[in-house]
Amino acid sequence: MTMNRSGQAYHRSISLPCATPSDCAQCSSELCLDAHRVLEAIHLMRLGARAVLASQLTGLDKNRTNQLYRQLFGVPSPPGQVPFMDSWHRRSDIRMLHTNIVWRLHQKLSRAERSKARILIDLYEVYIQLVEKPVLDITRAAFVQRLTSMETWHERRCESCEMSYATPVESNSTVCPGCLIYHRHRCHQCSSTLSPRSKGRDHANCGQCGAVLIGGVRH
Ligand SMILES: [Zn+2]
Ligand SMILES: [Zn+2]
Ligand SMILES: [Zn+2]
Repeated sequence: MTMNRSGQAYHRSISLPCATPSDCAQCSSELCLDAHRVLEAIHLMRLGARAVLASQLTGLDKNRTNQLYRQLFGVPSPPGQVPFMDSWHRRSDIRMLHTNIVWRLHQKLSRAERSKARILIDLYEVYIQLVEKPVLDITRAAFVQRLTSMETWHERRCESCEMSYATPVESNSTVCPGCLIYHRHRCHQCSSTLSPRSKGRDHANCGQCGAVLIGGVRH
């Protein structure tokens, strides 16, 4: 977290001729655009991005981001590719919930004219301030948007809270991860606390109102 703060401070303390990389379309200065990319790469790395991800998002050459990483942290960037499977995200309801928080933030932040790197920087900074214990690192957070763009996941409307949420295409879920977790502890109909006996059982009924509990629906 201290890394993040210093990253923010570093970026703000320098002002480039153009406010954003998209303004550089008019300034015709290669140096200026390059400086933007370098600053964004540094910012991403301070938030935990590896050299590969920083290169993909900023368009800087991989050798340069590797070199930057080494200069920043004194060690080479950890090897490994960016994720391409959603199995990690699906492993628990909490991960599904956090994946959905990131998905929603991406929807909000990607509307404005921003570079891919800037979207992820803004998104991740909001995410780590929003949740007490971040579950997704920046690499996983970067992957969330790809899940829906690859059509591995799609948007659905939650039957309980009526908000839209993202879920794997083949999942039979009808409620969002937030409602799923909530309804494991409270009846969706009368909101009474569920007894430990009825928790986690498929097709159990509420002891108060008799409603069929939806906490049993698994992803
Ligand atoms: Zn410029
Ligand atoms: Zn819901
Ligand atoms: Zn009830």
